[in-house]
Amino acid sequence: MPVYDYQCQNCGHIFTKLSRSMQSVGESATWPCPLCESQDTRRLLSRVAILGSLGGLTPGEQAAQNAQYERQSHILPKSKIDEFRAAKK
Ligand SMILES: [Zn+2]
Repeated sequence: MPVYDYQCQNCGHIFTKLSRSMQSVGESATWPCPLCESQDTRRLLSRVAILGSLGGLTPGEQAAQNAQYERQSHILPKSKIDEFRAAKK
């Protein structure tokens, strides 16, 4: 399942959305900011694509990892997530 990060252009908040299917969510699909409800959000580089470029994981494992990262992204600063990822290697 693709994971997309979005950044609000109004307040700078970064949030994550899982797309239910590749077909239903196009390249231009955006979500309103959960904090300020601005429609001016921009999609960032997909973490699925980033993880996929590293290789070594099945799609199922990637999905599980992405879900784990997404949960952590709500409670941990980015630097902590990077530490976690580095420790897993
Ligand atoms: Zn916002």
